[in-house]
Amino acid sequence: MENTVVTFVEEGKRTILVADDEYINREILNEMLKDDYNILKAEDGEQAYEIIKSKSTTISLILLDLIMPRMGGLELLSTIKNQSELASIPVIVLTTDQESEVISLNTGASDFIPKPYPQPDVVKARIKRAIELSEERQIISDTQNDTMTGLFTGEYFYGYSEVFDKYHPDVQMDAIVLGINNFQVVHERYGKHKCIKILHFIAVEIRKQYPDNECILCHKDVDLFFIYCHHCNDHENKLQAIADAVDLVYSGVRLEMGIYACVDKNIDISKRFVRARLAYDKLQGNFRNETAYFDDEILNKILFEERLCDDFATAIKDKQFKVFFQPKFDVTGDEPQIAGAEALVRWFHPELNLISPGKFIPLFENNGLIYKLDDYIWKCTAAQIKEWKDKYHKIVPVSVNISRVEMYDPNLSNRLTKIVEECGIDITDLHLEITESAYVSDSNMIIERVEDLRKKGFYIEMDDFGAGYSSLNMIGELPIDALKLDMLFLRNAFNKRNMKIIDIVLEIARCLEVPAIAEGVETEEQYLKLKESGCSMIQGYYFSKPIPCEEFEKYIQ
Ligand code: C2E
Ligand code: CA
Ligand code: CA
Repeated sequence: MENTVVTFVEEGKRTILVADDEYINREILNEMLKDDYNILKAEDGEQAYEIIKSKSTTISLILLDLIMPRMGGLELLSTIKNQSELASIPVIVLTTDQESEVISLNTGASDFIPKPYPQPDVVKARIKRAIELSEERQIISDTQNDTMTGLFTGEYFYGYSEVFDKYHPDVQMDAIVLGINNFQVVHERYGKHKCIKILHFIAVEIRKQYPDNECILCHKDVDLFFIYCHHCNDHENKLQAIADAVDLVYSGVRLEMGIYACVDKNIDISKRFVRARLAYDKLQGNFRNETAYFDDEILNKILFEERLCDDFATAIKDKQFKVFFQPKFDVTGDEPQIAGAEALVRWFHPELNLISPGKFIPLFENNGLIYKLDDYIWKCTAAQIKEWKDKYHKIVPVSVNISRVEMYDPNLSNRLTKIVEECGIDITDLHLEITESAYVSDSNMIIERVEDLRKKGFYIEMDDFGAGYSSLNMIGELPIDALKLDMLFLRNAFNKRNMKIIDIVLEIARCLEVPAIAEGVETEEQYLKLKESGCSMIQGYYFSKPIPCEEFEKYIQ
């Protein structure tokens, strides 16, 4: 059965859950909304999750802060979107920056509201629209026989397809997801009633191309159509014919198609359409293609990512994540001198062998696991610094990477100071690398947060400088102690023999009166040029790759 409709109205009002750890934010929203809605409040992610589970049928909308203690907003969002009984509750994310908007929308948020909050009527309008759209979706998808389009809906479609397979085990079949590009915009432009007509129209055109006798059709989630049909090679033409017909009547409605061809009948019918859907999702934000096929690349990627997430908890427990150290050399004197190191994580997976951070850091940033991983890496690094301090009575500072999403955690500075205190090292022993892209997303909030870290005594290195994010007019105000030049930026400059650009960037560091650190330096030519131009520190394969702690110890000795 599909989910039941969540149009629970108590005393004439729908219910909204406000999940935000800051009292003031909860109260502002409460004041704004209490006349029109019943408001439930949660102070952290876990509390919110408890409320959602116990009241799932009465909550019409969740307003979700991304940064909360105990369970972050993104983690909560992906948790509820992965549970069929909760997934239909619309979630609006309260956010301070554009990048997390994208992540949130990809994770299943319906919309976002920026902080500080816009005018109350703007907030109210967005809330009203999200609730309406979600209820419409549910009303439409709840009817087993979709009267609007005349096609099957969800479960019935799957059941019918299974029966078809049973009687035609040897026929090759394709699973197709056809949908309207950017339905939200179409919905806004044409309105609800026109939209129903459009969907009906599309259904009729689909049926012309995919006739009943060899295809099973389904209307799903308002703006999607599922097609289970004999395998063929001209889906592109069929889509074109449907699109042309639609365009004649409703201009600006674009159709897209994800195809899982020659399905594997050993996997569940609904999973076959998940695969078609993944191909379909590849088209989002891609304006050139209208069709996409499920291929081994998508398959391997989902299997690999699922595996990494499944194995994460064990990996932490079994200490499969190891910290490697890449030395940084001071090149201001005659001879390069070891002056620090960067801590870089490596995952030694018992079956998949060595996995590089590029494969799992972005994934964990998306699903919230990054908070646990970073904590673990910072602790390991601090403990290692402490061990070297005790053993050699001197150390070089080691920098850890602070993920971009960490910048939304108001508790960040407490977490870091706690680790430093518990490990018994000095705040100046643990440098922090904060990527340049983090600064730009919500300048004021981030600048305040970094200021706070600096006041506590942390040394801040701005990572990936020159990757093209910072606006030069704000660089002077940024709280930083060192500039770390982006590796690709340097490589580009050397490839194009554009040395002037290197001088300019180093000049910026001089103006800011902070040392410049170049990373990714691989050749003697690069090293000599950077040294000559006044770069203070160099890190890269030219001196050393990231190495395990025992090897790095030799440098300290
Ligand atoms: P990043 O912070 O820009 O780190 C520099 C990357 O350049 C590292 O890749 C390093 O191994 C590599 N590298 C250093 N010198 C050279 C060189 O001469 N040539 C080339 N080709 N590469 C060089 P790695 O270790 O694969 O890390 C990739 C990214 O993953 C890092 O980029 C960082 O953003 C992230 N990362 C790594 N460890 C952690 C961690 O513990 N926590 C978080 N949040 N992110 C991490
Ligand atoms: Ca770094
Ligand atoms: Ca970097």
